[in-house]
Amino acid sequence: MPRVAVIPEPNSAVEVREVAEPQLELNSALLEVELSEVCGTDVYLQQGRLEGVPYPLVPGHVSVGRLKKIRGRLLDIDGRELSEGDRVTFLDVHRTCNACWYCLVAKASTRCPQRKVYGITYGLDDGLCGGWADQIYLKPATRVIRLDCDPETFMAGGCALPTALHAVERGEVAIGDTVLVLGSGPVAINAIILALMRGALRVLCIGAPDHRLETASEVGASGVLNFQSSDEGERLEWILKRTNRRGADVTIEATGAPDAVAQAMRFTRDAGRVVIVGQYTDHGEASFNPHLDLNKKHLDVRGCWGSDFSHFYRGVQIVSDPIRSAPWKKLQTSLSRYRLNEANQALEDVASRQVLKALIAPG
Ligand SMILES: [Zn+2]
Ligand SMILES: [Zn+2]
Repeated sequence: MPRVAVIPEPNSAVEVREVAEPQLELNSALLEVELSEVCGTDVYLQQGRLEGVPYPLVPGHVSVGRLKKIRGRLLDIDGRELSEGDRVTFLDVHRTCNACWYCLVAKASTRCPQRKVYGITYGLDDGLCGGWADQIYLKPATRVIRLDCDPETFMAGGCALPTALHAVERGEVAIGDTVLVLGSGPVAINAIILALMRGALRVLCIGAPDHRLETASEVGASGVLNFQSSDEGERLEWILKRTNRRGADVTIEATGAPDAVAQAMRFTRDAGRVVIVGQYTDHGEASFNPHLDLNKKHLDVRGCWGSDFSHFYRGVQIVSDPIRSAPWKKLQTSLSRYRLNEANQALEDVASRQVLKALIAPG
C-alpha cells in the first residue's frame, strides 16, 4: 500500500498514513516518486495560510519519479508516447480549461478559476495527488515531461525554477540590465541564474542568512547584502552606489515580507520595472507613497502569479542541457534530503531557513 505524508488540518503535525492504490482511469498513470520537495509554500500550507486548500492534504507539488503503471496512452507535448519505467516530471497545475475568460480573453491562464494544483488545491480526497508519498496518481490530461537529466539537478531548481522563469519574463530583463533580487530563497536564487541567462550585466541580491547569500554569489550575483545588518536607507545607498545613483533597471521581489514591496519600488530606477513574486501567501498590508514611490517614478510594477506549462517546459529544457544546467549542478550541494517520516523536521528546517532546499526522498 502506498504511504503518504499528510497534513490532517492546519497547524497540526504531518502524519504518515497508508492508503489504497488508486484505480487508474483511461490515459492516466501511477508515478513512483523518487524526489519531491518542501518549499516555503508547504510551510504556509501547514500553517493554513493559503485559501482554497482542502485538508487533509498531501503536499509536494513538484516531483520527479518513474512511471510505474500506465493505463491507456500517455503522450508528451511532442507527441511521443511515454512508457512504464520512464523518468518524468509533470506540471503541478492541472485542468487549466483553455475555455474561460481568463484563459481565452485575458490570456492569463494562471488566473484560470478551473485550475487545480497537485499538492496544494488537490487534497487527499482527490486521490494520491501530492509528492510526499511513495506514489502519485497522474490524472488524465496531466502534462507529463520526460526528464533527461538526473533528478537532483532538476530538483535543485524544483518549483522555484518555473516561478523564477516567469518572474524574469515578467520583468523583461534585457541585455545589459542591472537586476536587483530581493530575497535569497529558492525563487530568488533561480531568478539570479535566469536573469543572467537573459543577458543581465549583473545581478545584485539583498537577503539573509549569510549562507544563502554565499549561494547567491556562487550562482553569479556580483554583489550581496545581508538585510538583517542594514536598514532601508543603507540598502538604498548600497544600490545607488552600484547603479550610477539611479537604482536597478529591474527589481524582482522574492521575499515573503510585505515591506519589501515598497522597498523594491524605491530601489528601482525611474521608469524601471518591478516584479512582485514573493507574496504568494497573505502576510498582510504594506504602505507606500503613491506620488514618490510610483507615479513620479514612472514605474512599471507587475504581479506574477504561478506558472504555466511554457515556464515549466522551458525550465526542464534548460536544466537538461549539459552546459546550461551548470548553475543548478552547483546548487546540488545545498540540497537536504528527508524521508517521509521526517517531513515535520523538513518543514521546520525550511521555515527557519537553515536549508536552502529540502527534498523528500520517500524510497
Ligand atoms: Zn513550491
Ligand atoms: Zn480557464
